[in-house]
Amino acid sequence: MRLLLVEDDPMIGDSVRKGLRQDGFTVDWVQDGRAGELALDEKVHDLLLLDLGLPGKEGLEVLKSIRRKGNRIPVLILTARDAVPDRVAGLNAGADDYLIKPFDLEELSARIRALLRRQAGRAEEVIRHGELTLVPATHEASFGGQPLSLSAREFALLEALLERPGVVLSIPQMEEKIYGWDDEVGSNTIEVYIHSLRKKLGAGFIKNVRGVGYMIPATP
Ligand code: CA
Repeated sequence: MRLLLVEDDPMIGDSVRKGLRQDGFTVDWVQDGRAGELALDEKVHDLLLLDLGLPGKEGLEVLKSIRRKGNRIPVLILTARDAVPDRVAGLNAGADDYLIKPFDLEELSARIRALLRRQAGRAEEVIRHGELTLVPATHEASFGGQPLSLSAREFALLEALLERPGVVLSIPQMEEKIYGWDDEVGSNTIEVYIHSLRKKLGAGFIKNVRGVGYMIPATP
């Protein structure tokens, strides 16, 4: 899952990015409200972590503006402003949740997962498809009742394909989902991951749609 972090405090930004990467998220970080708004126009992120006091454009204004444009990305506000009116204003402007600084990274990660789950219409923290089970919080996977060893990228790729089973993702769409701005993207790495996943899950689990991309059939 790819997150956009808009936070101007370098220490908080750095520790949040590091912590969330360790939890398996792809994180893009900008330090300015306007840059955040521009990045959101690309529509490649699954969730927005938004500070309120920002240079360029205040977080609340960024939020109002993206909602006006019809962008429904889940938004979690990170703010030191613990005054009730600020929190209420954030929620009224279309935020889905908020966390008061200083916060615990584990709690942040749990809240992000809860929002992503809600967005995907899932009540529980486990993704099941046929014989495959993925637990995003712990990055554990099993297939046919046996533990399955997946690299972080393989896990992310499966998660992306299982967001909407039956829908084909092109190679560039898959790259957008699992790589951030700072990641180097090799020329055929997605194919390498797909090849490895098919070896682990059987060739039929991920279907190649010639000239278009790959998908996991809705009915396993
Ligand atoms: Ca700030």
